[in-house]
Amino acid sequence: ATPTAVMVATGKGASLGVLIKGGNALEKAQKVRTVIFDKTGTLTIGRPTVVQIKIFSNISLQELSDLAAAAEVNSEHPLAKAVVEHSKKLHQQYGSCNDHFYEACNFEVHPGAGVSSDVGGKKVLVGNKRLMLASQVLITSEIQDYISDMEHMARTCVMVAVDGRICGAFAVSDPLKPEAGRVVSFLDSMGISSIMVTGDNWATATAIAREVGIEKVFAETDPVGKAERIKDLQMKGLTLAMVGDGINDSPALAAADVGMAIGAGTDIAIEAADIVLMKSNLEDVITAIDLSKKTLARIR
Ligand code: ADP
Ligand code: MG
Repeated sequence: ATPTAVMVATGKGASLGVLIKGGNALEKAQKVRTVIFDKTGTLTIGRPTVVQIKIFSNISLQELSDLAAAAEVNSEHPLAKAVVEHSKKLHQQYGSCNDHFYEACNFEVHPGAGVSSDVGGKKVLVGNKRLMLASQVLITSEIQDYISDMEHMARTCVMVAVDGRICGAFAVSDPLKPEAGRVVSFLDSMGISSIMVTGDNWATATAIAREVGIEKVFAETDPVGKAERIKDLQMKGLTLAMVGDGINDSPALAAADVGMAIGAGTDIAIEAADIVLMKSNLEDVITAIDLSKKTLARIR
């Protein structure tokens, strides 16, 4: 496209809340045949909430959520925020002082797995199966059954281990963005297929994908894995867009032919992307592709 056409299109994009970083991204967007969506914070609202707690040993609800909250309070992860919020809510419900937390030290983040911390002299782990297995914590069949039940309901199960033993779990739900299903089917009508990629487990991922109308899923992928899936698809000759919001999406956003970041996402994702969807609305994936098509049609 001519520099003028690019300027006009990027100006139009900006007025629509679609920031296009340069002519290359604009030219490539119309060639996109596959869109890869991150799950958490991209297809879903990204504000997960605790919808159920399950206790596996003799610990009170309040104690369980306080220990977990103390371990999670320094984490930026949306799941961590859900756990902390829940503990605060319990305090409010039962009328106790709501800003008192246990002291935590030796806080550690385990990407794609959870967190660990020492809380009141106890070793607390909060996270998924991968975290528990890596720390040699036993997952009994009772716990496994609960996890499976929750995952098939599209919930993520966050387990809490205290001194090497799983005491309880939070079932967390993160609803789909209202426009997600509509966007996937509209892309389909444009001959563009959708794929979901996530660090979350297969069962939850598949349940969410079914809800939104996506057939192809890559689950349990770490940040490097997300970028590798993109490169595999590119080797097959596909031109693809990646839509994501998190630090964990930035390698994939950089690897894709067109990286699109959710405006409400992290700065690192926004920096790695070619296009920023300022309104954080998935409809703007289509706006960006349309803009590209119209610009290039005009100059042809
Ligand atoms: P996504 O790709 O869906 O955005 P992440 O890669 O951030 O997900 O995390 C993958 C999984 O790791 C989560 O679904 C959760 O099971 C676990 N996890 C990561 N961080 C935390 C945390 N702070 N607390 C609990 N679980 C976590
Ligand atoms: Mg995400």
